[in-house]
Amino acid sequence: MSLDINKIRKDFPILSTEIYGKSLVYFDNGATTQKPQCVIDKIAEVYSTINANIHRGVHHLSQVATEQTEDARKIVQRFIHAQHSHEIIFTKGTTESINLVAHSFCRQFCKEGDEIIVSAMEHHSNIVPWQLQESITGVKLRVIPINDKGEIILDEFEKLISDKTKLVSITYVSNVMGVINPVEKVIEIAHKHNIPVLLDAAQAVQHIEINVQKLDCDFLVFSGHKIYGPTGTGVLYGKEELLNQMPPYQGGGEMIGKVSFAKTTFNELPFKFEAGTPNYVDYIALGTAIEYIESLGIANIKAYEDELLAYATKRLSDIDGLKIFGTSEHKSAVISFLVGNIHHYDMGMLLDKMGIAVRTGHHCAEPLMDVLGIEGTVRASFVFYNTHEEVDRLVEGIKRIVTMFG
Ligand code: PLP
Repeated sequence: MSLDINKIRKDFPILSTEIYGKSLVYFDNGATTQKPQCVIDKIAEVYSTINANIHRGVHHLSQVATEQTEDARKIVQRFIHAQHSHEIIFTKGTTESINLVAHSFCRQFCKEGDEIIVSAMEHHSNIVPWQLQESITGVKLRVIPINDKGEIILDEFEKLISDKTKLVSITYVSNVMGVINPVEKVIEIAHKHNIPVLLDAAQAVQHIEINVQKLDCDFLVFSGHKIYGPTGTGVLYGKEELLNQMPPYQGGGEMIGKVSFAKTTFNELPFKFEAGTPNYVDYIALGTAIEYIESLGIANIKAYEDELLAYATKRLSDIDGLKIFGTSEHKSAVISFLVGNIHHYDMGMLLDKMGIAVRTGHHCAEPLMDVLGIEGTVRASFVFYNTHEEVDRLVEGIKRIVTMFG
């Protein structure tokens, strides 16, 4: 089924906004996606009709709010094909999900000198939580290098594995280059050595169908706001047997079994990892966002975005002096580029004046910038509500800017 993009665009009220008198072209979807009206309405509906703290009250509203939150958990479970709904932990986002695993996994399974393998293209949130563990549990990071096309080098990955390796934590899709990592291969290699794998799916889950059971990944994390849902929502999927062995991340209400000054026991999954009043309103709306995506079909979304990526890559490549970072054939709809000596920040500012929103800078991936030998890039990230005409506006905009810089 092909998507009716003009109809879909009407679901996103912000897309009819004007910026400096020009219709908005929103190409900063890698940073956050826009929200369909059904998600915006769901938030208002929950606050207007069923708002009550969940898992606590015997009263009607609390029961309905609890049911809807647990339904949202089941929607996430279905969406990523997890075996159990209690393997879905709600968090604030990818960052919190990785911090949770770094803290709890390292406390349980790591000692001084053990190693965690990441790649050179990781977002800071898949680097710094592990570095924080260096001074707590004494783990060290090892880094998989990348080739000229922006792909991880699998042979080098295998060489990094030793009996000190405790976890591989790698991004599914690079937020800078859009390169899709061969995660199936990574998992196969790691599992040969009995090493679990965490997939940072922050840039994958909105573009690629995810089946955690088929992938056989041990953890998978993503952010709700990058998948058309509300900010302040995220997911940690973990295999039951691993999550059960890991100690709680934060203490407080919800996560306990029985509290006494002599001995406190902890709740079962998933609540053991969900201390305090959860952001249930937004988790319910995250469920609505996922149902919206399911109604379009992730395969249809991917087909459309792949075609748009091919079109944009071709048109941008035709601009004199434009260099694209990440030229792998395995990419999702993200293009990072620089043109001649034009600073990425100048390019972003001038495109903004034309109503075109792109991201500029290091994209929270400074180690990758070091590998590429640059300070930053201009990043255009596309999703299914973007159009070929918008790509044409970007191309024309860049050409005008190139002329200005003469
Ligand atoms: N990982 C990747 C690959 C990302 O692209 C991002 C955000 O851009 C994150 C992690 C962090 O996500 P959040 O800020 O929503 O926690």
